[in-house]
Order: sequence, then C-alpha cells, then structure tokens
Amino acid sequence: MKALCWHGSGDVRVDSVPDAKIEQPSDALIKITSTAICGSDLHLLDGYQPGMEKGDILGHEPMGVVIEVGSKVTKLKKGDRVVVPFTISCGSCFFCQKTLFSCCDTTNPNAKVAEKAMGHSPAGLFGFSHLVGGYAGGQAEFLRVPHADVGPIKIESDLPDEKVLFLSDIFPTGYMAAENACIEKGDTVAVWGCGPVAQFAIKSAWMLGAGRVIAIDRVPERLKMAEEHGKAETINFDKVSVYDQLQEMTKGRGPDRCIDAVGCEAHAAGTIDSVLDKAKATVGLTTDRAHVLREAIMCCRKAGTISVPGVYVGFPDKIPFGAFMNKGLTMKSGQTHVQRYLRPLLDKIEKGEIDPSFVITHKLPLADAPAAYKTFRDKKDGCIKVVLKP
Ligand code: NAD
Ligand code: ZN
Repeated sequence: MKALCWHGSGDVRVDSVPDAKIEQPSDALIKITSTAICGSDLHLLDGYQPGMEKGDILGHEPMGVVIEVGSKVTKLKKGDRVVVPFTISCGSCFFCQKTLFSCCDTTNPNAKVAEKAMGHSPAGLFGFSHLVGGYAGGQAEFLRVPHADVGPIKIESDLPDEKVLFLSDIFPTGYMAAENACIEKGDTVAVWGCGPVAQFAIKSAWMLGAGRVIAIDRVPERLKMAEEHGKAETINFDKVSVYDQLQEMTKGRGPDRCIDAVGCEAHAAGTIDSVLDKAKATVGLTTDRAHVLREAIMCCRKAGTISVPGVYVGFPDKIPFGAFMNKGLTMKSGQTHVQRYLRPLLDKIEKGEIDPSFVITHKLPLADAPAAYKTFRDKKDGCIKVVLKP
C-alpha cells in the first residue's frame, strides 16, 4: 500500500510499504477514505518529538470503511463506515474506566521507557513515535485499528467525510480545551493560535457560555476565519503586545480563561517573550518554545484558568511559576480523551449545530502529502486544514 512515511526532520515521503493487516483478535482493518494533517504532525516533521524511526507511517486523523475484523470484535463489521480516534485505548484499565482514555495504561508498550526519557507518556497514539507505542498511522491506504470495539465511532447517516472526519481529533480537542478552561457564563476567553484546534476551541468556548472570545495569531487568513466563523475579536501578535492589548481590552483585569492552542512550536512575540527569549538562548533546548504558555500565565486574570491543548514535549523552561502561584491560577491540560466526546459531538453535527468542514482549505491526493505538509507548516496558500484522499 501507499503511505506517508517519516524519513527524518523535514523529510516525509509517500512510500510503498507492506499492507496493514489484522494482528490481534480485537483489531479492525480500515480502508481509509479521508485523513487529515494535524499541527501535531508538524512536531514530527520539525523534529520536536523523540522516538521516531525512518519509515514510520504518520497520520492520526483518519476515517474509512471496515474491510475486515478480528475474531473478538463485536461492535463493527465489514462495510461499516467509521471515524477513528487518535488515542488508542483498551476501555477497561483504571484510567479508561474513568473515561480518561488518553491516559490508558495498557496500549503504550513503551510507557516506562518514555517516562524515564521525558517524564511522561500518554496512551498509545496512531502515527506518533515509538515512545507512544510506534503504531502505524492513518495517512495511508489502509490502517490497522487496535481495540476496535473501544475506539471507532460508526457513522450511520449519509453525512459526508468532511463533516465527521474531525471527530478523530481536532473537534474533541477544541471542545475539551474549552471544557478544561472551566468557563463561567459571560467569561472573556482568550485563545492563543487560530489554527484548526483553536478554531474548534473558539466555537466550543461559545457553546460553553463565553461572553467574549479573543483570538491571537499573526496569519491573516486564520485571524479572518476566527473573526468570520468564530465571531471572535482578534489580536495580531506581530503587530501589538498581546499582554498590553489584553489588558486594555479587559480594563486591566486580564481574560478570565486562557487557552494555549499553540504548544511547542510557538513563535516568540511581545515584550514578555523577547525578555525570556534572551534567557532561552542560553538554554539550548529545542523544546523550549513555551512562549504562549508563559504569556498566558502572565496575561490571565487572578484566579483564572489556563487550558493547554497545545502539545509540549520534554522540559520547557522559564515558566513564570511565581505568577502562576501568586495569582492563584488553575491549569488543565492533556491529550484529548477523544472517545468520551465522539457521541455528543456527532450529535451536534447531526443536529446541524456545527459543520466542522469550515476549516478545510485544501483537499489533495495522498501522493501530494509531502508538499502539503510544507504548505501547512509554512501557513502558505491560505492553508488552514489539509484533508488527504488516499
Ligand atoms: P497549527 O500549527 O496549524 O496552528 C498553530 C497556530 O499557532 C498557527 O496559526 C500559528 O501561527 C499560531 N502561533 C504561533 N505562535 C504563536 C504565538 N506566539 N501566539 C499566538 N499564536 C501563535 O496547529 P493546530 O493543528 O491548530 O494544533 C495546535 C496545537 O494543538 C499543536 O501543538 C498540536 O500539537 C496540538 N494538538 C493537541 C491535541 C491534544 O490532544 N491535546 C490534539 C491535536 C493537536
Ligand atoms: Zn491531531
């Protein structure tokens, strides 16, 4: 089969690889119909995520049609159309029982190695490094789905792929980010980033009672989408100091809730970061790009909440913990517990409350994936979200 493979930092290629196949009785085999590129894939492309090996198949936002199931699968059958969550969860361990699916204790065989190397490890994830299990990803013609009775959600209506595909990751991720922000009715919510995850965080913030949403980025098309689709006020971090602007917009109090939908690829901006950037130069850690996390802590109002869907790896440095402690802030984060959100968010799509396809700017064949990665990374051609069609 054809699959998008990692060959090193900045180097992804479409290769011919052995077909995916059933390996365990609880597996299903899916023929992929649509599969997206995520901001998290950029951390692999840009070499922020350790534990990658040449030839690893990327992709964790897939959907398709079941072509075969293992002998123990009861909920899926050949011909079912499914969306597959990026988190691989067993459904029965201590964490899965609490619906903390991305903390599943059994699906990452390399968890202990990862904990020693980086201090952390989530559940097994598709297409995302051997430190999270080394599972082949879904930017391919076929995908093996472990624990098929726990993960995939069946799409029984005739909604097109484009409307349901993002249940695999970014819609639940934006929604959990807003939930983690503990929004109270009428709150001002600041969202860093206007990428695909942020766009869903903005929509979800409104659903959960925000009175005002302020979105921060510097890419014109993304700011425009946040304004037009997200009904957000916006700040261009290249043009003004985010801290000063947020102070002014909130009459000196700061936003009640802050969402970091950027993570470890943040670009330095504003006064706080330029000071910290000089310090950063002496640290030399590639993971030390926590500009947004720092800024969110500094900007958030006292006793407010910081929600961090943005992915960080390893040991980001110079976190203003004094401000965090003395302001009495709360922080919530995590890889998304996707399985928890599939049914309720599919209901919202089916009822027409949201059409997630608004983020798609590029639809391309799998063969074009290497170029698409670069377009998406460099925010060229107005690119916001790429869907690949194997
Ligand atoms: P993306 O790269 O498309 O978007 C990131 C946006 O942040 C870009 O538009 C960029 O211009 C903007 N940005 C950069 N520096 C900034 C700054 N200083 N201030 C404000 N904005 C800034 O990525 P995405 O697909 O939207 O994903 C966003 C983050 O969410 C990534 O870190 C990704 O890994 C993470 N993610 C997490 C989960 C989870 O389970 N928690 C799931 C999916 C994605
Ligand atoms: Zn993703």
